Amino acid sequence: MVKGTEIIVKALKEEGVDTLFAYPGGQAVDIFDALYDQNDIEIILPRHEQALIHAADGYARSTGKVGVCLVTSGPGATNLVTGIATANYDSVPLVCITGQVPLGLMGNDAFQEVDIVGITNSICKYAVTVRTREELPKILKEAFYIARTGRPGPVVVDIPKDIQQAMGSNEYPTEVNIRGYKPNDSVHVGQIKKAVSMLKKAKKPLFLIGGGVNISGANEEMKKLVDVTGVPVITTIMGKGAIPTSHELYMGNIGIHGSYAANHAVAECDLLFSIGTRFNDRITGKISEFAKNAKIVHIDIDSASISKNIVVDIPIVADAKMAIEKLLEYVTELKIDKWVEQVKGWKRDYPIHMNQYDGLTPEKVIQYINENFTHPIITTDVGQNQLWATQYMELESNRQFLTSGGLGTMGYGFPAAIGAQLGNPERTVIAISGDGGMQMNIQELATAVVLELPLILVVFNNGYLGNVRQWQELFYNKRYSSTCLRYRKSCERNCKDRDKCCPKYTPDFVKLAESYDAYGIRITKEEEIAKAFAYAKEHKNAPTIIECVIPREANVFPMVPTGKPLNEMIMDC
Ligand code: FAD
Repeated sequence: MVKGTEIIVKALKEEGVDTLFAYPGGQAVDIFDALYDQNDIEIILPRHEQALIHAADGYARSTGKVGVCLVTSGPGATNLVTGIATANYDSVPLVCITGQVPLGLMGNDAFQEVDIVGITNSICKYAVTVRTREELPKILKEAFYIARTGRPGPVVVDIPKDIQQAMGSNEYPTEVNIRGYKPNDSVHVGQIKKAVSMLKKAKKPLFLIGGGVNISGANEEMKKLVDVTGVPVITTIMGKGAIPTSHELYMGNIGIHGSYAANHAVAECDLLFSIGTRFNDRITGKISEFAKNAKIVHIDIDSASISKNIVVDIPIVADAKMAIEKLLEYVTELKIDKWVEQVKGWKRDYPIHMNQYDGLTPEKVIQYINENFTHPIITTDVGQNQLWATQYMELESNRQFLTSGGLGTMGYGFPAAIGAQLGNPERTVIAISGDGGMQMNIQELATAVVLELPLILVVFNNGYLGNVRQWQELFYNKRYSSTCLRYRKSCERNCKDRDKCCPKYTPDFVKLAESYDAYGIRITKEEEIAKAFAYAKEHKNAPTIIECVIPREANVFPMVPTGKPLNEMIMDC
């Protein structure tokens, strides 16, 4: 007989957990005590639970393993909420263990009591409170299984303190059998044959590749499918990297910030062959105009994703890798030269513009990363920094580009980089953020410093919440309401003469880095880019912030205004 806390530690070990992202508190202290004497699991103490779960998420996305969080009840649990929703949208496998007040106090508004299961039910794959000591091992086993199988996602296991302390069996199950949860592990050959027949008849076919292809690790198979058929391919931003961005048939991202070639190809194609995407509104633009000349094939592991936003002609519920392997048995080269030339012509004539602003620009910094780092892991924050990265970053594989796509969570990028570096100690990890998002989890400099992580933290500093400011510039007559991050009370209200009397730094990122014992360097000119990255590479014992002071009103183009069809793009100011 062992305590509940001991079976929790045993479960973590049996599930192969080597890194636990954990923040202690009153209702979790017994679990931390049980962890004290073991050496198999590295326990990471971030400085805020929101950052903790983003770090677990970055670890999971970059390694393919389940990320595991442990926090206390009440605020410890509620601080996970944004990270749970972030992981849920982007199909990231997490197990989040939350301490809970003893069963007898639940429902009494006890100290640090919240109904975390009720709170998270609609934003996670599964949430459960453990109510008896007997069911604890089974629930933990199921939690890991549910998180990693089918469409992956976050699972919350809420464990009252008296269950943690109660004695019970030391047995941890080896098998799972959950009634009502049987992830699909086969491919319907009849549907595959129908899809191939439609593909062979198409004159203007297009592959649309989403996050599901990256999740399933079908990169080699996907490239083979494109090579064999000769069909042009576009990705969502979550699908980016599913085939190398340098591939001659790769036409860029679809969507409101997609490439001209990708968006026009969707508008013109007669068959949209989509794999592992959920057709979210950022990629469809005006739904009634979306791919209106095309038949649509949709392969997705989650039947709930199929015909949810876009009604499709051939649904195939399957894992992307298994489905593509099956497709490869039947496909042949297609005679679609004219179409391919047309799409390539769009790409040639309307490239994503590089270097459109003078001076130090995000494009030039990203170009430097492209040319000088081999296969780095890139994390982004949310906003313009993210969109520039999705447009310009060259990628070769999955698990290389981590971004909060579905929820669009500012503050994600830096802690996700911590998790990615812990999971991939040999790789270079670069976090790309803006000055807004970086400040949302800046306290994690402490975590990265104590763990001696050589992260490169690129901060595009324009003194604005740039993405919203861009919207205000283009669609709200430049009424920059609450987007200036250099605003002071003494500023003229709604000032028009930006820069004239702005404070120089809010904050000074270099001093901020140094105050944590990290490194910092600020650059303002293109010629300084190489020097800054050399400085970061020299320092292997702590992170380096490279603060890039970019043009204050640099914009992300192309873009599709809300409610417009994908091919009605603003190409430039
Ligand atoms: P996900 O949301 O990750 O969905 C993955 C799909 O694959 C799901 O349907 C899932 O069921 C399925 N799946 C999971 N595992 C498997 C498997 N093993 N096999 C098969 N299927 C599987 N995105 C763009 O593309 N273009 C934009 O212009 C754009 N602009 C954005 C702007 C901002 C400011 C932000 C924050 C985000 C933007 N996004 C954009 C991101 C967008 O919100 C969505 O996150 C993204 O489009 C979703 O892509 P997806 O459907 O391919 O991937």
